Amino acid sequence: MTTEVATEYQFKFIDVGVNLTDPVFRGSYYGKQKHEDDLNALLERARNAGVSGMIITGTSLGESQEASTLAKELDFFCTVGCHPTRVGEFDKFMGGADAYLAALDKLVASNLQGKGRTVAIGECGLDYDRTHFALPEVQQKYFRSQLILAKKYHLPLFLHSRAAHTDFVKILREEGFGENGGKAVGGKGGVVHSFTGSSEEVSELMDMGFYISVNGCSLKTEENLKSVKAIHLDKMLLETDAPWCSMTGGHHSQQYLTTLPLSLRELYFPPSTKPEKFTPGKTVKGRNEPCAIGGVAWVVHQLHDISMEEVTEKAFGNTLELFGLNV
Ligand SMILES: [Zn+2]
Repeated sequence: MTTEVATEYQFKFIDVGVNLTDPVFRGSYYGKQKHEDDLNALLERARNAGVSGMIITGTSLGESQEASTLAKELDFFCTVGCHPTRVGEFDKFMGGADAYLAALDKLVASNLQGKGRTVAIGECGLDYDRTHFALPEVQQKYFRSQLILAKKYHLPLFLHSRAAHTDFVKILREEGFGENGGKAVGGKGGVVHSFTGSSEEVSELMDMGFYISVNGCSLKTEENLKSVKAIHLDKMLLETDAPWCSMTGGHHSQQYLTTLPLSLRELYFPPSTKPEKFTPGKTVKGRNEPCAIGGVAWVVHQLHDISMEEVTEKAFGNTLELFGLNV
């Protein structure tokens, strides 16, 4: 047991993208309660793995409110915004789209200081893989609306871009985020999270002044790995996007995890079980958790051929800088 204690906090992380309001962390899957609420156990596993902070993602007005409440309770941080697949809510909202934006605005304004504060606008952006939730035109319109909030409150953006790079950067440029992360128009840059684009896209986004965040989905294919190699260390952030984006067998990242020492493997990938066979203290198969962020860093350190210390310290420092944190 003593060796385990010695490795605790060896590397420090802030998970910049975690969907901690997802009901699966309370044992509920697609409306069905499959096991007890194990959020506290998840938090303990995260702490053991060196995750000292989290930015809880808000993906709609309702979920941003929940993210904000949970962030206060747990002394983490949150984002406020509406995901491209959820922007249909703007038009359906009582009072219409303007009222929806005003409600997001109010939530940001009421939560800019202290514990659990809003540190970014988002997640927002474009997702052309899932246009059945909202048409591209609708996504574009409400992506632009949310950029206004980032300028107004001088907050970084927490961005989502899927199969939409051309339109994504076009809108950012048109709204003044084409260089220095939009500093000239009151913006404070941002991060393109869960990155799965090409290395050319990496270069363009870095040139515009944006950070890029890597998780298990960013390390799936050979092409993905090439893109992650192209991210400059001073523009890289780390996240899990839990409960999504687990690193699983068949992903190209697996070959880099074979060298993960057992002491770290126990912290980053604790034993798991199926939700139906839930056992207290174990993680759930297929449900990603913040403790797995160490696995992401492990792969990145090998791809970039630098030490684990350097990757984790850089990502940690970048996170403090972008989101203005002092933890
Ligand atoms: Zn996303």
